[in-house]
Amino acid sequence: MAYARERVQSRPVDGSINASAPIIHHPDVKRMLMTMRAYTEGCRAMATVAAAAYDAAHHHADADTRKQNQAFYEFMVPLVKGYSTEMSLEVASLGVQVHGGMGFIEETGAAQYLRDAKILTIYEGTTAIQANDLVGRKTARDSGQVAKAIAAQIEKTEAELARQGSAAARAVGKRLTAAREAFAEVVDFVTGQIKESPNAVFVGSVPYLMLAGNLMAGWQLARSLLVAEALAKAGTDTDFMNAKIITARFYAQHILNKAPGLRDSIVDGAESATALALDAF
Ligand SMILES: Cc1cc2nc3c(=O)[nH]c(=O)nc-3n(C[C@H](O)[C@H](O)[C@H](O)COP(=O)(O)OP(=O)(O)OC[C@H]3O[C@@H](n4cnc5c(N)ncnc54)[C@H](O)[C@@H]3O)c2cc1C
Repeated sequence: MAYARERVQSRPVDGSINASAPIIHHPDVKRMLMTMRAYTEGCRAMATVAAAAYDAAHHHADADTRKQNQAFYEFMVPLVKGYSTEMSLEVASLGVQVHGGMGFIEETGAAQYLRDAKILTIYEGTTAIQANDLVGRKTARDSGQVAKAIAAQIEKTEAELARQGSAAARAVGKRLTAAREAFAEVVDFVTGQIKESPNAVFVGSVPYLMLAGNLMAGWQLARSLLVAEALAKAGTDTDFMNAKIITARFYAQHILNKAPGLRDSIVDGAESATALALDAF
């Protein structure tokens, strides 16, 4: 953000400045910064919610609530580890891109973030190992019960978004519904096919992890939108709340909307991913 405000290059396409301007005026630079912000806020929210569930699983007074939180937390672990770390690479890579040529050389430190982010998807278990956990222990073992209980919670947020009724809430609700339905279809595919066609299920395991992580992060941003709209209306910290609302909408329209495509890869794409004979590689 600091570099984008400082680096001067090219005139803005809308003619708002009749000379070369700081690159933050260019729509694609804004898109990159919004993407970095949305992934970061979404993944942080997801990790915070998982951590809160861990606390409740250990310290809540009610035994049933402890049990529900433990199941939710366990489902979230591979998503926090796998999705957040993969997306940190995306964020760090965009950080290099915002810096242009200066990002690739060492002076700015942007390339160092990208190199450091790469190890996050390998240590503590690779992304595929987190995905194996999601498929095997977290989805197939209980026939998708916890996954479906989470989907039911997401449906409640969709109803709240509809009740709230603002343009932003409706836009986010539409994408949240599509992503949640895609998630539910994949859960059915995983639980239905794992015995008969394990290769077809496991070739889609990382895309499933990406879909589920994307959905859980997007769900938390949708929840934050509900709160931010109420607080903005009450006049509390309106600039901050408006940024939250815009970021949640951006996430829904630019990131959460990838979920149905991932569903298609998983449910329809197993054949092409596994068809090439080993000696043809
Ligand atoms: C800098 C660094 C720090 C580390 N710190 C720690 C640490 O603090 N604690 C710790 O315990 N470990 C640590 N590790 C080890 C790390 O956990 C392992 O490197 C990692 O689990 C991958 O194992 P591997 O290197 O043997 O790769 P391999 O197991 O050989 O994996 C190679 C590739 O095959 C894939 N693969 C392997 N098995 C499967 C499978 N069953 N299904 C699908 N894909 C599969 C992997 O996803 C990967 O893409 C660290 C590693 C590094 C490089």
